[in-house]
Amino acid sequence: MSLNLPSPAVALAIGAHPDDVEFGCGATLAKWSAAGATVHHLICTDGSKGSWDPSTDTAALVVTRQGEQRAAAEALGATGECVFLGWPDGELDSGLRQRWEVAYWIRRLQPTVVLGHDPWKRYRLHPDHRHAGLLAVEGVVAARDPHFFPEQQLPHHRPEALLLFEADEPDHVEDVTGFADAKLAALHAHTSQLLSTMGIDESASGAEVERQRQAFDDAIVARLGDHGQLERATHGEAFKLIADL
Ligand SMILES: [Zn+2]
Repeated sequence: MSLNLPSPAVALAIGAHPDDVEFGCGATLAKWSAAGATVHHLICTDGSKGSWDPSTDTAALVVTRQGEQRAAAEALGATGECVFLGWPDGELDSGLRQRWEVAYWIRRLQPTVVLGHDPWKRYRLHPDHRHAGLLAVEGVVAARDPHFFPEQQLPHHRPEALLLFEADEPDHVEDVTGFADAKLAALHAHTSQLLSTMGIDESASGAEVERQRQAFDDAIVARLGDHGQLERATHGEAFKLIADL
């Protein structure tokens, strides 16, 4: 188990949906932002299936979720770009076209560290998370080698490290003590997801909403505590680190 990469100049976090990055590595991004890193988000899908209400206007939901993602990035202190690839939610593939797009953004944004879903996490159900994870891995490979996609006419770029969150076999911890509040604030910025992913039902009574909100926050902070314990930190986020890129 290793602890703490050097704070990168530029970090690029790749998520399947708006909110995945905040769940997976929000506190780490907040820590690096505070240390002066430029933090970028790359969101692969449009988030259009992120509602349990069959009558939801999904086109409006896409716009809402982009705004929420930008607010979440701001809550983390991230000053970089929020890039939306806009693939239909639930239908993300890790094909050549998608890899082309991810490699393009890695070359353009030139991250020192790339973060993404662990595509090899066992018993993972959501295909978008698996495909977004593969795209982070395969996008790094394509971006680093000059003969991949030369028509992009961008200098090839080799990040120094790839961190996979939701790791099947975590072997690296970022000590994020002091950044739990930033992670929580960023998660709460995804207002349209309060019910479906955070279990907070705003149609309930005020006291009940407050109880649900506290239960969600407590679960997030408890997980930071569990991950931190791997390296004797109060709060941590655990990853699979791939440093041989
Ligand atoms: Zn997701």
